[in-house]
Amino acid sequence: MSINHLNKPGRFWKGNLHTHSTKSDGCMSPAEICTAYRDEGYHFLCISDHFLERFNWPITDATQDAPDGLILLRGAEVHAPANSHDELWHLLAVGLPAGFAPPLADEDASQLARRCLAEGAFLTIAHPEWSGLTLDDAAAIPEAHAVEVYNHTSAVHAARGGGSYYLDALLNTGRRINALASDDAHFNIVERPMADAFGGWVMVRAEANTPVAILAALKEGAYYSSRGPDFETVRQSGGFLEISCSPVDHITILGRGSRVERIHGKGMTDAKLPLDRFNGDWARVVLTDTNGAQAWSNPFWP
Ligand SMILES: [Zn+2]
Ligand SMILES: [Zn+2]
Repeated sequence: MSINHLNKPGRFWKGNLHTHSTKSDGCMSPAEICTAYRDEGYHFLCISDHFLERFNWPITDATQDAPDGLILLRGAEVHAPANSHDELWHLLAVGLPAGFAPPLADEDASQLARRCLAEGAFLTIAHPEWSGLTLDDAAAIPEAHAVEVYNHTSAVHAARGGGSYYLDALLNTGRRINALASDDAHFNIVERPMADAFGGWVMVRAEANTPVAILAALKEGAYYSSRGPDFETVRQSGGFLEISCSPVDHITILGRGSRVERIHGKGMTDAKLPLDRFNGDWARVVLTDTNGAQAWSNPFWP
């Protein structure tokens, strides 16, 4: 996990990995969803319907519905018993095969997660704040690639859309796990600005907008998450981090405990900050624009 992944050859592609359609409990058809995201300027999408028996175990494949300019990753939100509140687990599995088998009767979340990973998925622990997940919960899913640092539907419908505190707590245990922002859109609310879509996304660095290239870059951690600001380049060299970005008012590097480096200024587009206080441990970068919208780098180890 290197921050320099954001500068690898290629460009950034915008996508949302967490969406529900009428194939499970969403309010719009896969075709309508594809058009809506394409019209918003997204390059890729995963329609991640709830993989539950009551929805006939859908692995929604909307490839036929995809308009020009939008590619689809096959995936689902998979569920198994039980987290520490005796509720179903919610795990986002992007890159599942079409014939992914329903859970076995006695399959728990750890086993289901391992099966998703064995079949090639990029696996994310969904909405930790909405679910009230504990550190013991995350220990049951040790190989997850990421945890949601922002889930837009949980913010809109439950005022619990965050995940930063949980991500940091996991990093403090020595775990290597990335951040992910998603919509989890169900299209229950479509009026702007309250809509449950278009509020959290990823920007993936890849040479081509193909399912194979996007999935590989996600697994490598070659992406950032955002609600607004954009990273342009981020380079670690000589004990410093050099950042260029869209105009923001705060550039912050966070680490263990209360470790922080930051710079403030109206509409800044670049900064150079020292990394020495993070040496030998983790760090991550957050951009905050004048509206309070944030972008999150993945963690790295200076
Ligand atoms: Zn969920
Ligand atoms: Zn969901």
